[in-house]
Amino acid sequence: MKVFVIGTGVVGSLIARELSKYDIELHIVEKKPDVAWGVTKANSAILHAGYDDPPESVRAKFCSKGNYLYNKISKELDIEVKRIGSYVVAFTEEEINTLEKLQKQGEINGVPDLEIIERKELLSREPNLNPDVLAALWAPTAGITEPWEVAIAAIENSVENGATLHLGEEVIGIEVKNGKVKRLITNKAEYEADVIINAAGLFADEIAKMADSEPVFEIFPRKGEYILLDKKLGNLVNSVIFPTPTKKSKGILVLPTADGGLLVGPNAQDLPPDKKHDLTTTKEGLEEVKKGATNLVPNIDFWYAVKTFSGLRPETKEKDFIVGKTSVWGFVNAAGMRSPGLTAAPAVAEYLVEEVLIEELGISLNKKKDFNPFRKRIPHIDETSVEVWDELVRENPKYGELVCFCNKVSEAQIVEAIKRGARTLDGVKFRTRAGFGRCQSGFCSLKIIEILSRELGVSMEEIKMNSENSWIMNGKVRV
Ligand SMILES: Cc1cc2nc3c(=O)[nH]c(=O)nc-3n(C[C@H](O)[C@H](O)[C@H](O)COP(=O)(O)OP(=O)(O)OC[C@H]3O[C@@H](n4cnc5c(N)ncnc54)[C@H](O)[C@@H]3O)c2cc1C
Repeated sequence: MKVFVIGTGVVGSLIARELSKYDIELHIVEKKPDVAWGVTKANSAILHAGYDDPPESVRAKFCSKGNYLYNKISKELDIEVKRIGSYVVAFTEEEINTLEKLQKQGEINGVPDLEIIERKELLSREPNLNPDVLAALWAPTAGITEPWEVAIAAIENSVENGATLHLGEEVIGIEVKNGKVKRLITNKAEYEADVIINAAGLFADEIAKMADSEPVFEIFPRKGEYILLDKKLGNLVNSVIFPTPTKKSKGILVLPTADGGLLVGPNAQDLPPDKKHDLTTTKEGLEEVKKGATNLVPNIDFWYAVKTFSGLRPETKEKDFIVGKTSVWGFVNAAGMRSPGLTAAPAVAEYLVEEVLIEELGISLNKKKDFNPFRKRIPHIDETSVEVWDELVRENPKYGELVCFCNKVSEAQIVEAIKRGARTLDGVKFRTRAGFGRCQSGFCSLKIIEILSRELGVSMEEIKMNSENSWIMNGKVRV
């Protein structure tokens, strides 16, 4: 059985990892040069509790279950999950009514321990909240993670368990014969295929068209802009702070990041389907983000902003996930994965393999006896005790040579990231956090380029920021 997963976002990666538990020939195809550079690279990184999705939606079916499954996968894949909880805050009586509705909806969706907290208690827990707040819906199971790390870890573990990863290879066609998947065609090769899983994020509609499959759907990007602030502000809030949601989005929020910074955003701007590459930020958009965030937490000092960026939600007309089999046998969608796609991904992965492939399509899959569920992360010396760091240095003195001072990342971590597949500055950044901090790699990028150049045996000019044309240097000033 030859199975292909298209896409190495958090959804495709976790599906691939689920499939790597079985005795099949598994291929993962990704058009970008590295893992998790699509929607998964830029979002709010929240593991939503699951009260926000209408009970009849596909989102609700997978959100709270996915949230729960992160307990297991975070241990197996050694990824950061901080269960810091979330508050939806209300400033009016009408908003309090919405909190009550959300609480009931959450209970129907199976979300545990939801509670409405009164103003006094709320301000004692979150003293920097706007004092005009009246109440909040507290969801203790909400958390934060690093979505790209989830995907990187799941791909590493899939490959460890026998999957073949094809990076920089774009799917350009799908051949169907007698109503069944026959061949997958990329810009580099053609492969016989029995099953193709479409987890292509913003481009999943284009992949579905290649298979001429039903349901037919269109994905349009909904942009969300963010401001990332320095670690100095990381303790301004202890949990994820949401405003009361509107019909369009969950609103502009304030939250700590997994590595100790503060993130505010996103706004929501619908773009036409041909704007799937538009990751620009605008002055107006960022002003909107500032206004929304300071409405929740008035004393955010934006002088400490270290980066602005945007992400694109893969939105559909139905505002819901499109998950399951299609009119073409063997062609399966994990599409329209807008928020809470990160949270839902582990549950979607389990469902597609156990329910769709095995039960609905009747594919007989045998579990591998030697499946290894475990993967170890590259140590974050920033988060270890001095004693553990000392042990690491004794094993490898390069753990003692700091390269990124903002996030305390050593040369040994960068070399390990390169061993695990980093080929660019972003490849190193998203595997080690080097360059994520205050200086945004202003001080460490040259040293990282030197290490990449040395380890890969290429000239420094060849090292890119991320994509093929993202040149950093164009030659030597002095010979
Ligand atoms: C602003 C914003 C905020 C969000 N906040 C949250 C949140 O807090 N919590 C939450 O749960 N969810 C959140 N989400 C949603 C979450 O980020 C997504 O659901 C998730 O990242 C989608 O992952 P994916 O794997 O489906 O897509 P992607 O990460 O986009 O992966 C798809 C991959 O397919 C590849 N690909 C595309 N076409 C081809 C092709 N032809 N050939 C080969 N490869 C191809 C792409 O390069 C890409 O790497 C947010 C999203 C956004 C944009």
